[in-house]
Amino acid sequence: MSSLSLTDKLAILADAAKYDASCASSGGKKRDSRDGKGLGSTSGGMGICHAYAPDGRCISLLKLLLTNSCIFDCHYCINRASSNVRRARFTAAEVVKLTLDFYRRNCIEGLFLSSGIIHSPDYTMEQIVEVARALREDHDFRGYIHLKTIPDADPALIEAAGRHADRVSINVELPTVSGLRRLAPDKSQDRIEGAMGAMRGAIADGHDARRRYRSAPDFAPAGQSTQMIVGADAATDREIVARASTLYERFDLRRVYYSAFSPIPDASAVLPLRRPPLMREHRLYQSDWLLRYYGFSPQEVGAAADPATGMLPLDIDPKLAWALRFRESFPVDLNRAPRELLLRIPGLGVRAVDAILSARRLRQLRLEDVARMTVSLRKLRPFIVTADWRPVALTDRSDLRSMLAPKPAQLELFAA
Ligand code: SF4
Repeated sequence: MSSLSLTDKLAILADAAKYDASCASSGGKKRDSRDGKGLGSTSGGMGICHAYAPDGRCISLLKLLLTNSCIFDCHYCINRASSNVRRARFTAAEVVKLTLDFYRRNCIEGLFLSSGIIHSPDYTMEQIVEVARALREDHDFRGYIHLKTIPDADPALIEAAGRHADRVSINVELPTVSGLRRLAPDKSQDRIEGAMGAMRGAIADGHDARRRYRSAPDFAPAGQSTQMIVGADAATDREIVARASTLYERFDLRRVYYSAFSPIPDASAVLPLRRPPLMREHRLYQSDWLLRYYGFSPQEVGAAADPATGMLPLDIDPKLAWALRFRESFPVDLNRAPRELLLRIPGLGVRAVDAILSARRLRQLRLEDVARMTVSLRKLRPFIVTADWRPVALTDRSDLRSMLAPKPAQLELFAA
């Protein structure tokens, strides 16, 4: 390992980090160096991580593992102890150097750092914290830092991560306790949740301190997030949505990321042979939006799933699936209904609902007004009433689903 050049290590450890989806930076705090001091900026360009590579990686952060060696043996992970991959390891100083070099060349706006576990969780966490400490304290780096923490590490080290990072994440890994026990036998849900609870407390204390004393240091101002692997165990979409909702409630998370399990070389025999359809991951993200922005309860999102299998449909989005199942809630009168009912209408996003609410203060909305505020009326028509439109029997048609589902597209046989 010691004979590898920095470039070789970068190739191995940036590639190994691609399986981590939870690197977005929404909610980050603006820092800048326009006062002539410090280095880096998170302002301008609307935050960081808004660009993604085709495989889902954020491309404006330097996204690395400190090492892809690991003493744990999580079945779904390419870096597990029994995996046959080529190993590499950065020193903390090397990661600091790379981050500064990439930043100065204008390639990145920050760092996302995760790691396999070397020697012990504490030792690894010390190295991760040292990278962030050196960037912030020795180099006055003001770019974005997202650290993946190791739940088994000493709570003081996890707390130290929060002092230097904008965001920390602690992965729950799998949606169910049984899945975690089977596929990540070295990990424990209690320890993971204990670390998330401690981080929640530390973030809340940090906010309190900042309210009282403006000079109090920021503590993980972009909060904490987590990631769940989807499709490696038998958890249904309904279970995953329920778990995500509990996590949001209990730990005040900024985001739950869903990462479709991807088959790895030399995979363990307990894993499925194929990855779940990527569309499943997409439908879970849409469900997540329904929970966070559209006022749906986890039970309501769960009701959009197939009652027998607990899985969300892949051909239509979960909001449309819910509306088709609960047709008695429609049509909704766009000129009278409260915001929470407007948000239930398939095809109406939050911005369109806000536009409808402002416009209807001035006049009775007609179909042509709605057409100007939305992308397409096709999906809306069966579910709305306007001054000049009432769907009559359209909402109850037995073939409504097939009328609204996107038409299947022919796959390109020779697509790259
Ligand atoms: S602890 Fe992390 S790096 Fe190690 S095997 Fe498990 S998932 Fe992979």
